[in-house]
Amino acid sequence: MKPLLLLDVDGVLNPMGRPTPDYRRYRCTIGDDVYTVHLNPRHGRRLLDLAQLTGAELVWATTWEQHANEWIAPRIGLPALPVIPMNPDTPPSEHGELFKTPHVAAYAGRRPFVWFDDQVWAEDEDYLRVHQGLADFLLIHVDPNRGLTSRHLGMAHEWLTLTGFSQGS
Ligand SMILES: [Mg+2]
Repeated sequence: MKPLLLLDVDGVLNPMGRPTPDYRRYRCTIGDDVYTVHLNPRHGRRLLDLAQLTGAELVWATTWEQHANEWIAPRIGLPALPVIPMNPDTPPSEHGELFKTPHVAAYAGRRPFVWFDDQVWAEDEDYLRVHQGLADFLLIHVDPNRGLTSRHLGMAHEWLTLTGFSQGS
């Protein structure tokens, strides 16, 4: 089974801090709301390279859901990706885990995964470790001010390779 590379948007591909010159500014209109995002056009290529090297599948794990395919993917050179549904009616967290975490667990099933997010913490690690039936996983906490860096991509590559989950050639 192919491992998963789970991607957040805000705080990961769209950092909250003052953007460096690598980033371009865009406006996105979703319904009546207009969002300003800063995206690094090199992120797409780097993520695709990582996916190819490790035989993993890129998947959105963001409240942008399908909007990420419309507004984010084309601007950084990613194809449309599968989307983990993030039901807004999620029951409140019982152990301090992020609202996304049960959805991620349900989607991942028995596939190993690496999850890039600025809001994953020890509570999410604990939630997932005791969740029955999951494969191994790596949570990569991204600093929301800086966003995704080559260090995070390197951590994912190393983990997938060392664990033997990498399906790349
Ligand atoms: Mg985020």
